[in-house]
Amino acid sequence: MGSDAIEGLLDESRTFPPPVEFKKGSLQTSAEIYDEAEADFEGFWAREAAELDWYQEWDTILDWQPPYAKWFVGGKLNVSHNCLDRHVEAGHGDQVAYHWEGEPGDTRTITYAQLLDDVQRTANALKELGVGRGDRVAVYLGMVPELPTIMLACARIGAIHSVVFGGFSAAALRDRINDSECKLLVTADGAWRRGSVFSLKDNADEALADTPSIEHVLVVKRTENDVEMTDGRDLWWHDVVPGQDADCPPEHMDSEDLLYLLYTSGTTGKPKGIMHTTGGYLTQVAFTHKYVFDLKPDSDVFWCAADIGWVTGHSYIVYGPLANRATSVMYEGTPNHPAEDRFWAIVAKYGVTQLYTAPTAIRAFMKWGDEHPAKHDLSSLRLLGTVGEPINPEAWMWYREVIGGDRCPVVDTWWQTETGGMMIAPLPGATTTKPGSATFPLPGISATIYDDRGNEVGVPGGGYLVLDRPWPSMLRGIWGDEQRFKDTYWSRYGEGIYFAGDGAKRDADGYFWLLGRVDDVMNVSGHRISTTEVESALVSHPAVAEAAVVGRADAQTGQAIAAFVTTRGGVEENEDLAKELRDHVAKMISPIAKPASLLFTGDLPKTRSGKIMRRLLKDIAEDKQLGDTTTLADASVVDSIKNRYLDSPHDG
Ligand code: ATP
Ligand code: MG
Repeated sequence: MGSDAIEGLLDESRTFPPPVEFKKGSLQTSAEIYDEAEADFEGFWAREAAELDWYQEWDTILDWQPPYAKWFVGGKLNVSHNCLDRHVEAGHGDQVAYHWEGEPGDTRTITYAQLLDDVQRTANALKELGVGRGDRVAVYLGMVPELPTIMLACARIGAIHSVVFGGFSAAALRDRINDSECKLLVTADGAWRRGSVFSLKDNADEALADTPSIEHVLVVKRTENDVEMTDGRDLWWHDVVPGQDADCPPEHMDSEDLLYLLYTSGTTGKPKGIMHTTGGYLTQVAFTHKYVFDLKPDSDVFWCAADIGWVTGHSYIVYGPLANRATSVMYEGTPNHPAEDRFWAIVAKYGVTQLYTAPTAIRAFMKWGDEHPAKHDLSSLRLLGTVGEPINPEAWMWYREVIGGDRCPVVDTWWQTETGGMMIAPLPGATTTKPGSATFPLPGISATIYDDRGNEVGVPGGGYLVLDRPWPSMLRGIWGDEQRFKDTYWSRYGEGIYFAGDGAKRDADGYFWLLGRVDDVMNVSGHRISTTEVESALVSHPAVAEAAVVGRADAQTGQAIAAFVTTRGGVEENEDLAKELRDHVAKMISPIAKPASLLFTGDLPKTRSGKIMRRLLKDIAEDKQLGDTTTLADASVVDSIKNRYLDSPHDG
């Protein structure tokens, strides 16, 4: 194995073909679609784009001047028309678009006809507030129905939304508003979070002290906490929106007009304002939502349990599902309120057929125990999806067996804010899956693996994941920072080669295994070892719920592996267990991968989107000043780990 390859060490032999019952009714049961798409990828995407309504057809499918791509050049369409009007016009106005469930247990049922009505009134309100084509609108809301409504209203009139996750601080909101000079802010009095009110408006006010571009603030009433309204600037949603005319014809947007800006989660550093456009984006999110989730719009109840504040929510709560006329569940709150079975109660209540969530949530469910899902009838589920981090094989198996009752395919989907839609994922009726592998690039998508020097790595082999061909929902830039766009993604390898920043390998069968962030790869005595594999080995031990490992500088071995471990409920944490776990890794992988130190911790530092922030653990392990912590969900976790790490015994 070459010195720059990442060593692949875990079990690649377990396979799960599509479950027989699932396959019977599946939309796509043959792998021929891959070859069809490969034979002419532009033609393939053009056929998918033609599934949408266009006011004017494109002249050119793809104009590729690396690193700048334009898709469906000259075509005109409107995203809100494609998500709403065309379904209502086709007679589906009474179909439920969202079963919305509030955290306190209140509910709203929103049909396609109602949503279209709400969106048009909201669009007219935006116009009244002086918002028009190309203007930026910041949105800082919890998971309330007004959130998809305002996004679609922006899309209808050609304004660009920038949704900021409702859990972010005033400073994070301020920076994002100022970065793109938003004209309007849409927020709420508050948001429900684990039974208490998080005052969005107070945070917004703090941010607004220093956001000169904002002219108005539109405030949704949700939690009824007292808020201050600034005269002339702040307006209640209920005073402005419901009285508007429910007719607002959609703007004819260019395929390449900006649809939205969205900042990355900040796992690796300062967030980037990713730019997404109209025609290509909608084409790819609709295609991937339909085929990866095997969507049957007449019978399915689809639930993506992410927050709309992340790209997962943009693409798979709002745009993909609505473009495909899905009926979705939208849930406002946390998975453990009022109790640890809330998700399973929701699945049973609405008869959810597809559930899409993140490994961090799945590991939390494992930690909380099997008795919670066992209380509910989960037999409506027919497919399970995951996104956000590499999924440990143990968590994948648990998801499949305990939640999916062994009858649901599990689709592990790799993609990024930058890619806009899924890139590497199984087709559930056609692809044989392996726990821990995202399988293959989707039809029409091309991905491969390079080594340090820019040579393609053969099969099997590991290195850096790259995308060597443009795709319709790709980012078109970083707002206001062209140089960073070029430097971050397009300068490492040759022209037109997108550097994803993730390590990956392909096994002998050509399956892709995502191995974690390139920056996190550890180098122990000349062996390049991925964080994902060591963590997965730890998680495969019955005592472990979650684990993070980092390489800290070591005089002898270059780097030594420091492990941070969260145990499952009821496990006693002691030196013997620590030793047992370190030995377990040595046995499962190799003595080289054995952690030099192992610290038990109640929690791991995570982004607000739930991803483990290894760079902070590395700072702790190397006793360095902590890097950027602004996107950290809970800053106290890091302090407590830091104190305990310094006190804990280390051996080499
Ligand atoms: P930032 O770019 O600001 O550091 P981020 O990368 O966490 O933040 P996102 O765009 O939300 O922001 O996350 C994309 C990343 O999440 C991918 O690059 C990858 O590291 C990880 N990821 C997402 N899905 C998967 C998956 N199925 N398997 C492995 N890793 C995944
Ligand atoms: Mg990223």
